[in-house]
Amino acid sequence: MTVLVLGDQLTRRAGPLVARPDERVLMIEARAFATRHAYHPHKRTLVASAMRHFRDALRDDGRDVAYHETETFGGGLDAHFDARPGDALVVMRPSSHGAADRLRDLVTARGGTLTVVENETFCCSPADFDDWHEGGTLRHEDFYRHMRRETGVLMDGDDPVGGEWNYDESNRETPPEDYEPPDVPTFDPDATTRAVQDDYADANAESWADPAPFGWPVTREGALAALDDFVARRLPDFGPYEDAMVAGEPTLDHALLSAPLNLGLLGPREVVDAAVEAYEARGDVPIESVEGFVRQVLGWREFVRHAYRVGMPDLADANRLDATRDLPPVYWDGDTDMACVAEAVAGVRRRGYAHHIQRLMVLSNFALLYGVDPHALNRWFHVAFVDGYHWVSTPNTVEMGQYAGDLFATKPYAASANYLDRMGDYCAGCAYDPDATTGADACPFNALYWDFLAENEDDLRSNHRMGLVYSHLDDKRDAGDLAAIRERAGEVRAAVSASDPSRTE
Ligand SMILES: Cc1cc2nc3c(=O)[nH]c(=O)nc-3n(C[C@H](O)[C@H](O)[C@H](O)COP(=O)(O)OP(=O)(O)OC[C@H]3O[C@@H](n4cnc5c(N)ncnc54)[C@H](O)[C@@H]3O)c2cc1C
Ligand code: SF4
Repeated sequence: MTVLVLGDQLTRRAGPLVARPDERVLMIEARAFATRHAYHPHKRTLVASAMRHFRDALRDDGRDVAYHETETFGGGLDAHFDARPGDALVVMRPSSHGAADRLRDLVTARGGTLTVVENETFCCSPADFDDWHEGGTLRHEDFYRHMRRETGVLMDGDDPVGGEWNYDESNRETPPEDYEPPDVPTFDPDATTRAVQDDYADANAESWADPAPFGWPVTREGALAALDDFVARRLPDFGPYEDAMVAGEPTLDHALLSAPLNLGLLGPREVVDAAVEAYEARGDVPIESVEGFVRQVLGWREFVRHAYRVGMPDLADANRLDATRDLPPVYWDGDTDMACVAEAVAGVRRRGYAHHIQRLMVLSNFALLYGVDPHALNRWFHVAFVDGYHWVSTPNTVEMGQYAGDLFATKPYAASANYLDRMGDYCAGCAYDPDATTGADACPFNALYWDFLAENEDDLRSNHRMGLVYSHLDDKRDAGDLAAIRERAGEVRAAVSASDPSRTE
């Protein structure tokens, strides 16, 4: 028997590597996986370097590891079964829908067998989630409270620590003008990472010119250092500024932990425990920060994983609003006078990262208003972000960001400059006027916002959470302003779609 370790299952603390400490290990680094899409070079480097480091760590533990660098995954399996005909493989369930079946087909076609065991890199098992869900409504807040009760995290008996389940109301502050968030650590490439960079240097280089020097953690030790740094320096302000956007601050107090979490280098429970321990042991972590962080990891991350599981395969094609426009080139080149979009894309181009509010309220919101095909946007998130994997980008992008499915989103996250100006300071340095809707210098989000509401009126007006905004749309229509607004939206779309179309996914 051989334990097959996939590239996003890099943990020595769970799964068959623990259950079968004496079995040999198989890892396959398939070049075609890394090059079939225009992945950001940081993502490609991150995954391959983390895999090679993990291989070395296992060997240091004394494990027998076969590591195949091949063109295709099937080629790696060929090499394995040539050496060990008829071998039995065991693997943790892959996170992408259908991947376990595809893997089994590949293995059986080569005369082997595959046992798929539960993926233990999450806190909530499919059985636990299904027991809780029982086919009912998928509501994050209910699931989150269930997880708090089940795990005892931030619980005082049957009650939430601090008296409230959710401190979201306290998590919408904007930092003072002179606020300086702590610097974030970078992890310089070692020889292994540099070898990966050389190996993949020519792959899709034209799509991602001039990224920042690579600085993501690629080992367990690096990931733990990143966790320590977040908990020590950024956790205290994480809560209050969680929804803020500040020009020139691409991280603010966010954790930068999604990449090591999604690779398995960190476990969700240990990052939650580290935050709670800091809250209990120190006096500088307010309840709204620790609760906000726990909600993201124990709540949202686990929730979207299962929403994906329950929602697939339909979610992969969902398009409730029938949005079909191409993803505009600005998502690749960032070449725009819209300060908020330019800054968010610049962050993605530099290091494959934008923080949550940039993702939701700038990048996803703009695509929603523009009418981008949700799956084109999802593909972009998948290839452009260091933490982008189908199981997590799909529910976040297709369901939450684009309102394309019918799983858990109760209304579209659509917002005009009014929201962006309130929650961020980009507008102050922007070429456009956030208070204007028509005219050449009017913020493009504004006309697109009203046009989006008009375009999707049949689908959205009956949503009781949209009643107020539709009454505002009625006011504009009654005042005779809507035609000019929609004309401006058309001009914005034409201008945005006309920029350099040479980059593709
Ligand atoms: C349109 C869109 C696309 C996204 N695509 C991805 C993606 O491909 N991969 C990904 O990991 N996250 C994705 N997210 C969720 C979230 O934005 C990122 O997890 C987060 O920004 C990562 O940065 P951080 O580690 O600094 O997170 P923080 O803001 O510091 O949050 C802490 C941790 O909470 C978890 N988390 C928070 N919100 C979510 C969420 N909605 N879904 C899953 N985990 C969450 C992450 O593990 C994160 O590391 C997406 C969100 C949106 C709106
Ligand atoms: S004015 Fe509009 S485009 Fe400019 S930063 Fe504000 S919201 Fe973005």
